[in-house]
Formats: sequence, structure tokens, C-alpha cells
Amino acid sequence: NRTLADYDPAVAEAIGAELHRQQSTLEMIASENFAPLSVLQAQGSVLTNKYAEGYPGRRYYGGCEHVDVVEQLAIDRVKALFGAGFANVQPHSGAQANAAAMAALLKPGDKILGLSLAHGGHLTHGMRINFSGLLYDVAAYEVSEKDYRVDLAEVERLAREHRPKVIIAGWSAYPRQLDFARFREIADEVGAYLMVDMAHFAGLVAAGLHPSPVPHAHVTTTTTHKTLGGPRGGVVLTNDPALAKKVNSAVFPGQQGGPLEHVIAAKAVAFKMAAEPEFVERQQRTLQGAKLLAERLVAEDDISVLTGGTDVHLVLADLRNSELDGKQAEDRLHEVGITVNRNAVPFDPRPPMVTSGLRIGTPALATRGFGDTEFREAADVIAEALKPGFDAEKLRARVTALAEAFPLYPGEETR
Ligand code: PLP
Repeated sequence: NRTLADYDPAVAEAIGAELHRQQSTLEMIASENFAPLSVLQAQGSVLTNKYAEGYPGRRYYGGCEHVDVVEQLAIDRVKALFGAGFANVQPHSGAQANAAAMAALLKPGDKILGLSLAHGGHLTHGMRINFSGLLYDVAAYEVSEKDYRVDLAEVERLAREHRPKVIIAGWSAYPRQLDFARFREIADEVGAYLMVDMAHFAGLVAAGLHPSPVPHAHVTTTTTHKTLGGPRGGVVLTNDPALAKKVNSAVFPGQQGGPLEHVIAAKAVAFKMAAEPEFVERQQRTLQGAKLLAERLVAEDDISVLTGGTDVHLVLADLRNSELDGKQAEDRLHEVGITVNRNAVPFDPRPPMVTSGLRIGTPALATRGFGDTEFREAADVIAEALKPGFDAEKLRARVTALAEAFPLYPGEETR
């Protein structure tokens, strides 16, 4: 039983280099986080060997007595965390959670209404060449040109016009909270299901720092690796027993074969962690960091912040008045050791590979331990890096000082 480093040094070396990259730079991609050692250990465990098609107590394979314990723990914990009556923890990813939720609610050809990708929606909410756009008839709502917020009167108008079978609320790039009760009223009015994809803000919901969609939505989906800080994966929640049955059969055998029990074990660990007081405190720092960042960027002449600020864990910088486009800004920050992603702003005049925006998030740095002082310093480095006469070396040194003050994965166990 040779170790990875011994058997496959090429892969081991690349993993080591990635660990060093994560340790020595500032991760501000809004959808990323640092899974704790306990999650990494569960995910790297012997559970990867086990076939367990079916659900706890109802498997199509023998020898499932221990993975049943693990999966039931994950189910019970996530139900308690979000106050949901039912949970399916098997989706391999957020995209698969959404595919399963939609398969439970829709037939191919049915109409869906979701936030347009160009305005902050996700691929799985109806993008043309995604399964959602290929299987379903898509209508999309956009943010208002006036204030860049979702206008529920417009959502209602489109819902009346298109009579969708599912309305999707949720986003990948939007800095404000959605009014789930109002979304549900609109869905009820037109006889649609409301599906909320809380992938981005699930950690804030778990901490009680963001309204929960679970009491309002027919079905709620999430990833487990963004603000929640667990392993990469998906979950589907509902309070409706009839929909629960449909969701279970949509996940297995509808979308997937054997569940990833090692990932489910890691999800169980993450759900336990998300119920701790320390998790709430971390999410508070996440929100506070994003607010400080927004304030700092708003103070710049040529950068604006969409909607003027943020209620969540990310800031959308608008570079339409800057000399830099999104790609150049992303590269600048990369040069000084800060990782973000460029992002189209609504009504973006630049092409999608270039864009006029940056999406900048604080969950990973909050996990690393950042508080007000460090977030202020990081925000200042970002603002300075986007100025014409920026000094890459000096800024890189400030990034290194921040990274070294908050060591990530200090032991050897993660190698
Ligand atoms: N839903 C939303 C809102 C997302 O932002 C994402 C990922 O970025 C997903 C779903 C898909 O998750 P995954 O990448 O795990 O498929």
C-alpha cells in the first residue's frame, strides 16, 4: 500500500503545489471555501470503496450497515440545520441537485422561469446549452436597469405571461437578499412550484443571518461547498412528503447511480460544524468583510459596486467606467496574490470572456480567520491594485503578510 507521494509523485507534486497556492494567496472567489481537516479526512476515507445504491435501510447492495449510519447522520443533521422535513444528501453536485429537483417537478418541454445567467443566475436555471435549457422551455427574468435588483413586479408580470411550471429563485452573482415569501405568492398565483437554489447563501441561512427559503419553497437545493464550507456536493430539501418521494426517485435512479458515501460522510461533518456557535461567528465575519470591501470600493472614482453595497458574502465590482476590463482586473489581482473571478455585470457591453465586472467573496478568508482589520487591509490592496500606477511588488508583500498571519492547513495531514 504505497503512499501517493511514493507511487505517483507527479500527482502528489501537483496537489502539493495547489496546497501551497491556497496557503500563500488570498482566496476571494465567492463560491469557494476551505474545508476543514475533518471534512477532508471523511472525504478521503475508505467509504469511497462502497456501493450503496438506494437509501438508508433500503439498499440494493449488501454491507451497507455503516454507510447507512453515515448517510442517516447527514440527513438528520441537514434537516435540523435548515428546519426541513425531508432531505436528499446524495446529489454529487449543485448542478445534479438542480437537475434532480427539476426532474421531480417537471416533464421535458415544461416551462421554467429563472434569473438570467447574464444577470446573476446559474447555468442550471435555464442556460441554452445546459440540461435546463435543453430539456425545458425557458423564460428568464432580469434585474432592473434602475437599481440592479430583482424587481418582483416584473417577475410577477413574466409569471402571468409565461405561466411557468417552476419559478426558480436563487443566484450565483447577486449581492442582495430575495423576498422568498413574495416569490411564493407569485408561484401560487400562477400555479407554479417555487424552487429556491440557495447554493451561495446556504451558510448564511444556516447561521440565521439570511432569511430561510425553506418554509416558502416547494423545493430548496444547495451546494455544500460554498458558504457552507463542506465538501463539494449537493442537497435537495422539501417539506412536502409527496415531493420528497419524487425527489428521491429523481436523484436515484433518475439522475445518479451509486452515491458518494465518502462525500456524504464529509457533508455530515460539515452539517455538524454549521450548527456550532463558531460557525455563526464565522458567517458574521464573512458578511462584515463583504460590507467593508464594498465600502472601500465604492470610495474609488472609477469603480462602482452593483446595488451600492451588499447584504451577503460577495461584492460585484462594476468596471464599466474603469480603464480595466474584468479580465485585466482579474489578472491584476492574480499578480498580487488575490484570486477572484471576472463576472459579467448586467447589461454588460463587453463580451462574456472579457466582462466588465469582478465577483469578490469573503467566505474563504473568514474561514481562514480574517476579521475587520484584515478585511480592510485586503480591500485596500484590491483597490490599490486596480489603480493605474499600481506597485505589484509592494501589494504582493502585503498579501503575503496577511496570508502568513493566518496559516492555512498548518499540519502535514492535508498533504
Ligand atoms: N447553483 C448555484 C446558484 C451555483 O452558484 C452553483 C455553482 O456555482 C451551482 C448551483 C452548481 O454547483 P456545482 O458546481 O456543484 O454543480
